[in-house]
Amino acid sequence: MKPLNLLPVLVVLSSTPVVASTFDDHLHLYHTLQRVGVNVSINAPDCHKRQGVDGYYQSHTRHLVICQDKMNRSHQEVDWTNNDYDTLRHESWHVAQDCNGNGIGNGYLKPVMDLKYSYAVLGRQQAQSLMSNPVYRSQPQVHHVEMEAFAVASRESARSIADKLLQCYSL
Ligand SMILES: [Zn+2]
Repeated sequence: MKPLNLLPVLVVLSSTPVVASTFDDHLHLYHTLQRVGVNVSINAPDCHKRQGVDGYYQSHTRHLVICQDKMNRSHQEVDWTNNDYDTLRHESWHVAQDCNGNGIGNGYLKPVMDLKYSYAVLGRQQAQSLMSNPVYRSQPQVHHVEMEAFAVASRESARSIADKLLQCYSL
């Protein structure tokens, strides 16, 4: 899940270079998610109810949802923004974390990398602003998982995230 108040902070404070990913790279990631058994919904009906949420991943149902910035009607895909792509990379990384936590679909998301990676990518200021969110502050494990997903989405390419999913899936 990506609460509304986090993303603008991330964008404003981000000073890390974003690895270039093409449309094809993201399409490949989209297909890879399905290949590893995750259903992807673009602009699911409940996007309307979750105002300000860019997307989410539910482990138990193996369901990943992207709520596009320019969403108008349910299930109708519109032009992708950079933020939509960022959300796809972010939520896809939660699938990698799910896989890392004893397999996709068991409800346990385990960080893949050391927390130092997230701090190095996000920087102290951004890491602290994420930490200040009450939800994350009260749940250290969720905080680590979210930090990592934000960091990976900003640093890694869609293709490298897809590679990671395939690697985990084939283990
Ligand atoms: Zn998240």
